Amino acid sequence: MSAIPESIIALIAALARLPGVGPRSAERIALHLVQTDSAIVKQLADTILLAREKIQFCTICGALTEKSPCPICDDLRRDSALVCVVERAVDILSVEKSGTFRGKFHVLGGKISPLDGVEPEDLRIAELETRLSNETIKEIIIALGTDVEGDATSNYLAKRLARSGLKISRIGFGLPAGSGLEFADELTLSRALEGRRDMS
Ligand SMILES: [Zn+2]
Repeated sequence: MSAIPESIIALIAALARLPGVGPRSAERIALHLVQTDSAIVKQLADTILLAREKIQFCTICGALTEKSPCPICDDLRRDSALVCVVERAVDILSVEKSGTFRGKFHVLGGKISPLDGVEPEDLRIAELETRLSNETIKEIIIALGTDVEGDATSNYLAKRLARSGLKISRIGFGLPAGSGLEFADELTLSRALEGRRDMS
C-alpha cells in the first residue's frame, strides 16, 4: 500500500507526461493542485479544455489558430509571393517579433531526422508543393535551425522544390550555431532574414 492516495498518483503520472515536466515538478504541481480551492482548479481545467477545443491547425500554413485560414493567411496586406518555411508553429511568433517579415508562412511540423524516424513524408512538404501550384509564390525563405537536421532538411527542400521562376533562400547569418529560432533575439533574426543566402 502506498502512502499517497491513488488519485494523486494518477495526477502525478498525467502531469509527468507533459513536455518539460519532470517527475519532481509533476509531484509538486499535483500536491499543490489537490490543496488548492476547487473553484480555482476547475477554472484551470476549463481553460485547458476551452483552448484545446478552440485551437486547430490552419489548413493552408499549418499554424495554430482559432479560425482557419488563420489571420496571417487571410491578411491581404501581406506579400503572398514570399513564404517563410518554419519548423514549428511557435517559430512564426519568433519571426513575427523581428518585425521585418511581411510575407506568409508555412509550418513543416518538424525536421527530417532518420534517426528519430522522421521522414520527408511525415512533414508538410506535399502541402507546400500544393501551395506552389495554387498560389503565385516567387520566393521560399527557409528559416530552420542551424543544426544537422536543419541543414539536411533545407538541402532536401531546395532540391525537391526547385522549379523555374522560384527563388529558394535560407536564413542563417548570425544565428547561433546548432540552435533553433527561439534562441535568436529580434535583431539577430531580422538580420538573418535580410542576409538570407540563395539556394536555388
Ligand atoms: Zn495560415
